[in-house]
Amino acid sequence: MANRLDQLLRMVDDARDEVIALTQELVRIPTVNDGTPESGHELAAAELLQRSLAEDGIESQIFRSAEHRGNIVASIGSGSGPRLLYMSHTDVVPVEDESQWTHPPFGGMIAEGRIWGRGAADMKSTVAAQAMALKLLQRAGVPLRGTLALASCADEEAGGAFGFGWMAQHYPELLRADYAINEGGGWPIRSGGRLVYPIPTGEKGRLEVHLRIKGRGWHASQPWRADNAIYKAEEVIRRVRSYRPQVSTAHDLFRHLDTLAGVDGPVTDETIDAVLEQIEARDVNLASMLRAASRMTLVATMIHGGVKSNSVAERCLVTCDVRTLPWQDREYVRQELERLLAGLDGVTIEVVETAISNQSPYDHPFRALVEQATRDALGRDDLAFVPGLTVGFTDSRFVRPLGNVTYGFVPSHPDDDPSKSGAHNIDESAGIESLLAATRFHVALAWRTLGEAS
Ligand SMILES: [Zn+2]
Repeated sequence: MANRLDQLLRMVDDARDEVIALTQELVRIPTVNDGTPESGHELAAAELLQRSLAEDGIESQIFRSAEHRGNIVASIGSGSGPRLLYMSHTDVVPVEDESQWTHPPFGGMIAEGRIWGRGAADMKSTVAAQAMALKLLQRAGVPLRGTLALASCADEEAGGAFGFGWMAQHYPELLRADYAINEGGGWPIRSGGRLVYPIPTGEKGRLEVHLRIKGRGWHASQPWRADNAIYKAEEVIRRVRSYRPQVSTAHDLFRHLDTLAGVDGPVTDETIDAVLEQIEARDVNLASMLRAASRMTLVATMIHGGVKSNSVAERCLVTCDVRTLPWQDREYVRQELERLLAGLDGVTIEVVETAISNQSPYDHPFRALVEQATRDALGRDDLAFVPGLTVGFTDSRFVRPLGNVTYGFVPSHPDDDPSKSGAHNIDESAGIESLLAATRFHVALAWRTLGEAS
């Protein structure tokens, strides 16, 4: 078995130029998603993938969710046995000021061992790695005791209504799988001389809260006759700012702080904040991530009030961003806000859920497969793994409800520098060694999950 896998991984190395070229071609297609239904134009990327897969005799289907928006699904294998799904998105965020970029954002140029351009990191290098893994497994004629499927969809950057959200609604049977692998994490942390890879098993939810404050308007020359909505908002904002969320170490991640951060002994809801202070002294980023993983956040992000400079405001709107833990739903958020704002008159609370918090189990056979595939891909046995939580959200939230055990994890090469990825920023790029590692990882994962002797 090991020999066969070694052969497959050598095929990846031999296909180095091919996977680089595919990434470059994808980056050169400007699939810019500005949030409008007319943007994205991901169909061109789906068609490129369809042609590339067809070269190896792999059939695929493109599903159009709108005129220029395409979602591609392909699969190889026997149909019986387990099903593994590779997930990716083909859209990218806009480029604000092209003149600030060192290399043209849609040039796909190569320099310093990296491929440069918008979407190189988020996430066209993974799109290419997944497609190449499928092509190489097919090319090698590897018999699979199950199905390996690929879904590369549109519109992740604007909420997925034309991408995975649309596909989950119209073609859930194509997305349903025992296991799924998607973006969400993969950068290692160096801790105690070891290389530790967090494997994100879930993600926080995101809600928008609109606090509408109603007072009584009046001419500004006699303000005492008004009930100034802006002054009433002052107390609302003060309470929002003073909100102390329930601290929770329920996530599996907190069972692994010894590996992740060299913390001795168990961590509880009562001790976590003191532990975070210690971690913060040496690693601000890790401490911040752990803080976000241990509580809901509530923060005021916008305020609108008044209509005229010489009238006292009758209404004021305070908008807040909320990020929830996997066990906190919309009703929980509403109750927390009702408690927080109790006793204030003229305040109405609206809670809008934009992404549902979700997670897959960490104690699951898929974990061992992902860990082994990472060791295979990087050719080393000394790696450590811990569960992770993505504090943003991804398309994984559309497939977890279908029953797919989904991890947001594509391992980066340990020598790659995360500060160079520039996702959603200027000078975005993908390290070629990480691209190769990602391709090897996907091949190894399919082999470990669906290979003949597995
Ligand atoms: Zn992404």
